[in-house]
Amino acid sequence: MSSPTANKVLTDRIERIELSATMAVTAEAARLKAQGANLVNFGAGEPHFNTPRHIKDAAIAAIEANFTRYTGVAGIPELRKAIVERHASDFGSKYSPEEAVFTTGGKLALFNAIQVLVDHGDEVILPVPYWVSFKDIVQYAGGKLVYLETRESEDFRITAEAIERAITPRTKAIILNSPSNPAGSVVSPADLERIVKLAHARGIYLLLDECYAYLQYAGSPISGGSFTEAKEHLVVLGSLSKTYAMTGWRAGFALAPKAMAAAMVKLQSQSTSSAASFVQKAAIAALSGPQACVAEMRADYLKLRDEVLAGLAKIPGVTCSTPQGAFYVYPNVAAFLGRPGVKNSTELATRLLHEAKVVTVPGEAFGTAEHIRLSYAVSHQDVAEGLTRMKDFFSNL
Ligand code: GLU
Repeated sequence: MSSPTANKVLTDRIERIELSATMAVTAEAARLKAQGANLVNFGAGEPHFNTPRHIKDAAIAAIEANFTRYTGVAGIPELRKAIVERHASDFGSKYSPEEAVFTTGGKLALFNAIQVLVDHGDEVILPVPYWVSFKDIVQYAGGKLVYLETRESEDFRITAEAIERAITPRTKAIILNSPSNPAGSVVSPADLERIVKLAHARGIYLLLDECYAYLQYAGSPISGGSFTEAKEHLVVLGSLSKTYAMTGWRAGFALAPKAMAAAMVKLQSQSTSSAASFVQKAAIAALSGPQACVAEMRADYLKLRDEVLAGLAKIPGVTCSTPQGAFYVYPNVAAFLGRPGVKNSTELATRLLHEAKVVTVPGEAFGTAEHIRLSYAVSHQDVAEGLTRMKDFFSNL
């Protein structure tokens, strides 16, 4: 006799998740571009800068030296040392190399951390709006999402008070992404300290997504990882993608207490093994080499942010909070929704793409109905052109 699931092809867990909206938008933009469309791409967040020369040279030299074989799963010792030293010098954290795991992109660091921490039914607090993959990765692990609404009038800021209210006896973890994707909101130093202490006192794990830590426009960058006394409940998730313009290299890392880092290494030993060997050498050059490139890129993103905000302000009906970090704006387009052919933000983004040739990501992917996301990690010329197209589009809607 066949079992009740004999004809079922796909697992429950894969059916719990969706294709990443940012990756779907990237694919659609690439398809249209291949057909000759002249697009302005505010879609997936990806630096328009090329990877700095010294980082590329390190990878080329590694390949020439035949550094092209397997390495230890967590990364070569010099790289694990470079990760902890960079973080210690910038944020005052105290991790040992054994507590650093290098991964094939920051997304895998997050995936691994959630797989080792979140069991079926565990609650995970997720501030809204959230980056698309947080939701699906938690769902893949069987976790239960507890959404934490933030206020647009407060630039979507996350506070310790709001987090405290969302905690229940089943809370296993809190995801904190500051500066945030998609709204560019930044947690204040005082709130960060309170959140870290709260999590530590309640035995809740704090997953600190620091992908945009170096893209903060006011005040000094901070890391929850600097609260060493709470270390047993902290997992720092980092990426070289945005900081060093290395999206395609797939270079990310996690900093976590030894036992948790070891569990992530165990999981990774059964999936990707290590990240690419020569990428690891490039990552050492990025983390240990000159950091001027980071400040130069940040200065340009700030100019781009102001240009985008000025352009959006000229579009009647569109309002926008002021992002304090990352390279996204999250304008409110509620005034246009509900009109014929623009039922929701997904339809609006689709029409913007096909009619105005402007790529954006609908707010629905990030948990809010009334917004679209624009990545302004593009040239100044593209900002000017894209905003002109958007103004024309919205005026005729
Ligand atoms: N984090 C970027 C974004 O949100 C890259 C895409 C992704 O990995 O989802 O657009």
